[in-house]
Amino acid sequence: MVGGGPTGLMLAAELRLHGVHVVVLEKLTEPTEQSRGRGLHARSVEMLDQRGLLDRFLAVSEKFQVGGLFGGVVKPWPDRLDTAHPYGLATPQPVTERLLNERALELGADIRRGCEVAGLSQDEDGVSVELADGTHLRSRYLVGCDGGRSVVRKRLGVGFPGEPAKVETLLGDMEVTEDPATIAAVVAEVRKTQLRFGAIPERDGVYRIIVPADKLAEDRTTAPTLAEFKQQLRAFAGTDFGVHSPRWLSRFGDATRQAERYRVGRVLLAGDAAHIHPPTGGQGLNLGVQDAFNLGWKLAAEVGGWAPEGLLDSYHAERHPVGARVLDNTRAQITLLGTDPGATALRELFSELMDFEEVNRYVTGIITAVGVRYDFGEGHELLGRRMRDVQLKQGRLYELMHGGRGLLLDRTGRLSVEGWADRVDHVVDVSEELDAPAALLRPDGHVAWVGEDQQDLLSRLPKWFGAATG
Ligand SMILES: Cc1cc2nc3c(=O)[nH]c(=O)nc-3n(C[C@H](O)[C@H](O)[C@H](O)COP(=O)(O)OP(=O)(O)OC[C@H]3O[C@@H](n4cnc5c(N)ncnc54)[C@H](O)[C@@H]3O)c2cc1C
Repeated sequence: MVGGGPTGLMLAAELRLHGVHVVVLEKLTEPTEQSRGRGLHARSVEMLDQRGLLDRFLAVSEKFQVGGLFGGVVKPWPDRLDTAHPYGLATPQPVTERLLNERALELGADIRRGCEVAGLSQDEDGVSVELADGTHLRSRYLVGCDGGRSVVRKRLGVGFPGEPAKVETLLGDMEVTEDPATIAAVVAEVRKTQLRFGAIPERDGVYRIIVPADKLAEDRTTAPTLAEFKQQLRAFAGTDFGVHSPRWLSRFGDATRQAERYRVGRVLLAGDAAHIHPPTGGQGLNLGVQDAFNLGWKLAAEVGGWAPEGLLDSYHAERHPVGARVLDNTRAQITLLGTDPGATALRELFSELMDFEEVNRYVTGIITAVGVRYDFGEGHELLGRRMRDVQLKQGRLYELMHGGRGLLLDRTGRLSVEGWADRVDHVVDVSEELDAPAALLRPDGHVAWVGEDQQDLLSRLPKWFGAATG
């Protein structure tokens, strides 16, 4: 893996579950304290539960329940969203990274900091990587989890079509001298017309300040100065809140781009390396760790020698459309966030529509990603969707998935996974909540088959789990 951000760390842990030898190359010598992503949505919460990690996150995170969080419109959480975890977690990105790093290390990943990848080449047997210090490494596969400016993507020559940034927003954590009530009143007033503005109290008297930049920076990699923040705060709010003592200052744009291919031979792309979009809806980190969850077991199957034909390519086939939809929903949100009368009218109409419970549920399903359905062809309504956690006689379904293996949940007691028992667990149990005789789950929890006929099951098992053994 190139890159030890949330995507690379999640992927490293998933691969280690299957015993794959993993090296993560991360250019930073120390973890960053920059808290870009601030939350985990319901589908990511489910994934943590599926791997036995949720308690660690719950111990350090507040739960939140904002439904229909879309383009500046905020509604109550909808009824009957298809999840046993109807909430998000307010977890600062450095905390998410620390916990995922801890987990990857526990499982035996080799995480090497201060290792910047500068180049790569591949042949039939593997990938050679050149580090910035001139040393070389070789592996069978390589995954670029190296963020939006991905060197791996660029060296592969993979196209990254989309739109360049049109606006830029300053973002930073700093102290203020103004009193909290005045700040709240000013923010409420400015946000009537400008939704890219905020001053959110964080811990220890530090505020997170968000304000539109004056113009696009020529060098986007250079951090803005405190003076720029003051100038822009005065321009939009008539006061700079007495900001001082910044913890970190950054800028983000609304560039929206997606890699044309997520796989070139033995090299794959995941997370921000494969897609960038504005942070509206707080989806980027979630999308990246969900890419990793999809890719991990497939790559492990390939390395382990049991992957059926096409399994690794299904990563692009499944995740590229999901990424494209996220890009589209951020485009829609940016339009809704506009300040012109048309955008304001559109936002009001959208807000009224979201008062319909079904619309709220649909939109929340998009943002939280619990609505994702992969195209596994025609069939039962569960097919292609990930199954929610259900209560079984012998515990909860997600508790049985910690090992990252396939799982046949069988209410009939007549089915068998003989020949695949080294890759697929067979759980005979009854769930009042499961409206199907039996379901075959992939290691990422997506439903690969629903039915009750053994011959039918035998025709599906090889597609996802390869040939029978023994
Ligand atoms: C203002 C803002 C707010 C956001 N809010 C949210 C939110 O609320 N929720 C959400 O889900 N997402 C949010 N995001 C998006 C989120 O931060 C990213 O989507 C997420 O960090 C992507 O994770 P990643 O692991 O794919 O990439 P990154 O986090 O960018 O990690 C890439 C890693 O690769 C390393 N690297 C880069 N190049 C090399 C190299 N050549 N060699 C070795 N290592 C390298 C980097 O040092 C870095 O550690 C926000 C983003 C911004 C800017």
